[in-house]
Amino acid sequence: MMTTRPKPDTEKLLQTFLELVRLDSPSGQEGPVREYLEQRFTTLNLPYIADEEGNLIVRIPGNLSQSGLTLIMTGHMDVVPPCIGVKPVIEGDGDERLIRSSGDTVLGADDKSGLAPMIEALELSLKENLPRPDLIFLITTREELMLDGAKYIAPQQYAHADFVIALDHTGKQGTVIYEAPTYIMFKITVHGKSVHAGIMPEKGINAIQLLSQALDKIRFGKLDENTTSNLGFIKGGKATNIVPDLAIVEGELRGHDEARLQAELSQIEAVLRETIDPVEGASFEFTSEVCFEHYRTEPDHPQVQRVCKAVEATGLPINLIRTNGGSDVNIFTRQGVPGIVLSAGYMEPHSLTESVYLREMVTCTELMLAIWEQFAKP
Ligand SMILES: [Zn+2]
Repeated sequence: MMTTRPKPDTEKLLQTFLELVRLDSPSGQEGPVREYLEQRFTTLNLPYIADEEGNLIVRIPGNLSQSGLTLIMTGHMDVVPPCIGVKPVIEGDGDERLIRSSGDTVLGADDKSGLAPMIEALELSLKENLPRPDLIFLITTREELMLDGAKYIAPQQYAHADFVIALDHTGKQGTVIYEAPTYIMFKITVHGKSVHAGIMPEKGINAIQLLSQALDKIRFGKLDENTTSNLGFIKGGKATNIVPDLAIVEGELRGHDEARLQAELSQIEAVLRETIDPVEGASFEFTSEVCFEHYRTEPDHPQVQRVCKAVEATGLPINLIRTNGGSDVNIFTRQGVPGIVLSAGYMEPHSLTESVYLREMVTCTELMLAIWEQFAKP
């Protein structure tokens, strides 16, 4: 049965979003957004903690809750560059208003179109005395730098919670992401020998050429259904008249199967050994780092089922998917809190054409209230 719930204040929601995107918050410099949010929580009489990494932690006691559940809601304050001096532009009317940037910065809807509905849903829930479980808002810093803020939140702040929901994905409302990959960065450094390129090239070892020969034997791109790899950055050489003694390439691997990723790393290393070791005077280094780890929360998990019921109650089609992108949920699930990611409605994130429809933020607010209601049920 559909319950009639009070409607979000669309204009206030839009205003919150516009205020948030106008505040500069590159990764590591989220202060203005944090202070803004602190003011909003203070107005609501909610105590908060800002930890050493700048993450905001807010505990909101449950209301009319029969479940005893604690639910974490999370989003991030930081925005990818270029993001200084965002000037939002609004087109269209009513809920169909589209908000985009003026074209020389991103909009920052990733993730401020998640944060604004969190604030609106919270204010409405408190004002109208709506049912909700015990909530913990974890609003993080440096998410765009390999989830670097969330990594440092002390687990005792949240690890007792039953479930975590991030509002941080593109797509229509109703999108539920239950699986995300492990992410590994790697770096290959090839050392050769520099000599004059015209007078005695035969005495040198061309590191760029050696690296190319090795890379030519390695597959990149979509390796299988769940595994991707990419070369993203290359440098080496000093001048056209010098045989280069150094070539460096950096790349990434993503996938849902840890063993598969480790096998791929071993394969890359084997190719490097086979190509470079036989060349006298040449050497290489191969390093890798796991930046965050895979999670999967089964679609039939009871708390995922509560989310799905709320999606239905909001009148949305359910779209259960896996993603190959990471989020703070990758961090929190590692502390034993199962979770999912929901859409924040933003489109074309990390680009100058990033945008969001107001209606997506309104629906996001409604969906959140419906989710809280489901989590308050026995
Ligand atoms: Zn994001």
